Amino acid sequence: MSDVQEIISLMKEPSKENVALTKKAYEFSQRAHEGDKRFSGEPYFNHAFETAKNLAEFGMDAPSIAAGFLHDTLEDGNTDEKTLEKEFGKEVSFLVEGVTKLGKLKYRGLERHAESLRKLFIATAKDARVLIIKLADRLHNVSTLDGHPEKEKRYRIALETLEIYVPLADRLGMGRLHGELEDYVFPYVFPEEYKKTKEIMKKKRADHEKHLEKFRRSLQKELAGHGVKNFKTSYRVKHLYSLYKKLLRKEMDIDKIYDITALRITTETVGECYQVLGIIHGIWKPLPGRIKDYIALPKPNGYQSIHTTVFTGDGAIVEIQIRTEQMHREAEYGIASHLAYKKGFFEKFKSSKNRQAVQKKLGWINELIQWQENVSENKKFLKELKMDFFKHRVFVFTPHGDAIDLPEESTPVDFAYMIHSDIGNHLSGAKVNGKMASIKTKLRNGDIVSIETKKNAHPSRKWLEYVKTGMAQRHIRLWLQKNQQN
Ligand code: MN
Repeated sequence: MSDVQEIISLMKEPSKENVALTKKAYEFSQRAHEGDKRFSGEPYFNHAFETAKNLAEFGMDAPSIAAGFLHDTLEDGNTDEKTLEKEFGKEVSFLVEGVTKLGKLKYRGLERHAESLRKLFIATAKDARVLIIKLADRLHNVSTLDGHPEKEKRYRIALETLEIYVPLADRLGMGRLHGELEDYVFPYVFPEEYKKTKEIMKKKRADHEKHLEKFRRSLQKELAGHGVKNFKTSYRVKHLYSLYKKLLRKEMDIDKIYDITALRITTETVGECYQVLGIIHGIWKPLPGRIKDYIALPKPNGYQSIHTTVFTGDGAIVEIQIRTEQMHREAEYGIASHLAYKKGFFEKFKSSKNRQAVQKKLGWINELIQWQENVSENKKFLKELKMDFFKHRVFVFTPHGDAIDLPEESTPVDFAYMIHSDIGNHLSGAKVNGKMASIKTKLRNGDIVSIETKKNAHPSRKWLEYVKTGMAQRHIRLWLQKNQQN
């Protein structure tokens, strides 16, 4: 049953206006898709409903949920932008327009696909909710892939999800969505590997859980005994595709994988996280080299948690993840989780100081747009998007420890422009890991980069020969243009 109450009950802010907007979009979508069927034969409206429901589950706001209901009405539902704007206002119609593919008449095949993606990215740079709606749409599509009659198309959709939408979900820090998308498409992209991994999981899981449960009970006792209050413990079972990727890295040796299941401890404060870690290491010996403090040094997508792996004393080895409740929500829902806490987050984001903090998280989308402007051929655009933009990346650090995400073979010049165009435009030299380095140096994972600037320093045409990012190329060209005219 597709009852709108089900979605309203999931909403973070079920105010009168928000509920009214949701109901209106629900009814409009139902009418727009009336009589239409999906490949599986079920009513098309089910897809709109499930997309809206996914958005409510991510904690998204009412305009996003409304846009979820309406996201296919322009493409398949016999309505037009004018009507949508008249009925729902600019905000909602912008979101719907952003996820709508380009017209079938003007574009075909690969061109349509690539141009629609470009359009999606441009809309996302203006409003990140557009991408989240697209991902909610894709999540439902891949969860119902078996209803698609053409084998080849199923494979194409599954592969595209893995190559484009999964990395996007990762960039947004949406861990749960990332894992679900991967697991839905895994059997379609790698059927044999899927079967094998599933079997391994089945064989090992029960054993792991038995050890974990026993360990959890003694851990709870110890934490309570040391006066730790307000903590919760839970299990997380590794997603299948994630397990498969790890098996590949460990020569398919399951005995080298300790985190098929992991014990999660959530606390209220950061201080309690370290207190818990101290207590655990005081009792159980940690496996050397496996302690990771992503609280002090978050992953580039914002993920925070402490990971450690300990010997339980009865022959078992257990992975433990320690984080605050808020870090946990952010790990699950990423950028969407901010909407749940800060009212009017995106409005603030457009106008005020918050912008910089969030802009940093979304910096990659601006970089993506500037990069794609230089790649006019669509085939090349798709290929480089998958390989250079999502796959081959390096993470380097500012002297303050902030992670900056760059394409492989990026240089200190690229790094400087990622920080700020003024820094790039006045770059005079660079240090890599504390030593003076050529500004042509190809940066490597983990490098700490600091940029030196001088008032009278300026870009040179030569830089264009070795910079890697669209961001740097664009700013250098801009500067050259401006200063040639003078
Ligand atoms: Mn759709």
